[in-house]
Amino acid sequence: MEVIVIRLVPYKEYDVIVTSLCSDGFYSFKAKGLLRPTAKLSSIITIGNLINIETIDAKGGPLVVGAKPLLNMSKLLSNFDKITVLNYLAELTRLIIKENEEARLIYPFFKSALSYIEEDKSPLVIATIFSLHLLNICGYEQNFASCQSCGTLKNLAAINIKEGGLFCVYCKKTIDIELDETNVNALYNIFVKKEGDWFSNEFKENQMAPILRTIIEFLSDVFSLTFQSLPLLKLSFNL
Ligand SMILES: [Zn+2]
Repeated sequence: MEVIVIRLVPYKEYDVIVTSLCSDGFYSFKAKGLLRPTAKLSSIITIGNLINIETIDAKGGPLVVGAKPLLNMSKLLSNFDKITVLNYLAELTRLIIKENEEARLIYPFFKSALSYIEEDKSPLVIATIFSLHLLNICGYEQNFASCQSCGTLKNLAAINIKEGGLFCVYCKKTIDIELDETNVNALYNIFVKKEGDWFSNEFKENQMAPILRTIIEFLSDVFSLTFQSLPLLKLSFNL
């Protein structure tokens, strides 16, 4: 079965309990001896990797007996920004996604994000769009169709994550993040028209970093938690 690895918890001396996402939601399995220096699967069962696993039913749950990578990991791990985003996606998912239904819903977006990373698309845009999808799934839906204040569909010019979406040029406040038409259109296409391909749109990257920063600040506040990947995101993208 096809899974994305999001958490590795060591137990005993060399064994690991793996939490992953699959098309049905969460899936946990054990990997015996994964921490041994000679373990063949240790470079495959890694955080953020999309893999095809073979498991058997053992005492205490499924036990992995084989795993094959479905992505070109060397391409994924070829630069610092990609590694940063890979770790962020996995951390964001394991910290915020609690319900199995949410896990089932986020899975296809995680899979898309991984293939975009592999295709050398902008890691910053991938991290931002994935985070917005995750907000929608967890009940913090963002409205990208109209102004949150007056309801107009025109002149949308800023975003406020805490207040749930876009504001028009007349209603925007100084704390909102300014967006130009390119980004407003891209967000509209992805989240209102529900276009499958994130990158059939153009993005102005300089406006993505503040959005991502605000999302992380918002989730840190709401869930009282600290993102360990934040310092690396700051380093990579000047958040
Ligand atoms: Zn307005």
